[in-house]
Amino acid sequence: MANKDKVNIVPAPEGYSGQGFFATKFSSVIGLARANSLWPLPFATSCCGIEFMATMASTYDMGRFGAERNSFTPRQADMLLVMGTISKKMAPILRHVYEQMAEPKWVIAVGACASSGGIFDTYSVLQGIDKVIPVDVYVPGCPPRPEQILDGLMQLQEIVKNEDMYRRSSERYEELQKSYKFE
Ligand code: SF4
Repeated sequence: MANKDKVNIVPAPEGYSGQGFFATKFSSVIGLARANSLWPLPFATSCCGIEFMATMASTYDMGRFGAERNSFTPRQADMLLVMGTISKKMAPILRHVYEQMAEPKWVIAVGACASSGGIFDTYSVLQGIDKVIPVDVYVPGCPPRPEQILDGLMQLQEIVKNEDMYRRSSERYEELQKSYKFE
């Protein structure tokens, strides 16, 4: 039976509290909700994908972070995890998947191949997915251990929690999208 003393409660955002009340910013509440309910889209092409499977399984249990709901349709996911070698032929497909995801959306490059092409410094392999889509978090390793993937997720949660609610309509974000030739 679960011990209620062992249940970790997500810390409240910064705010003001007194007897019977707690006040904070609306954007902090939205950030808290988003960060703890990320829906992953696993784009797994090779070995790093196996590490992700371990990360989702009972020992590491990514569900503890509210991210257990895998989606294989881009329309119902907001966290794209790219795991494995991405060939140049596959790059347009990855872009297409990214484009189909609704805002707000975030990207984690899992492992050396997704981050930089890894050991495959060849004519046919994309030397990092950030050549075709923007990346929020890079997880090093070949392959990274499940703990590292969880660390990447936690890094992303920090970004999501603290990012401005309207970042997606900011000039900087629009410029970033334009630099990747997204409309
Ligand atoms: S980073 Fe290493 S383990 Fe991951 S897909 Fe590339 S070769 Fe495989």
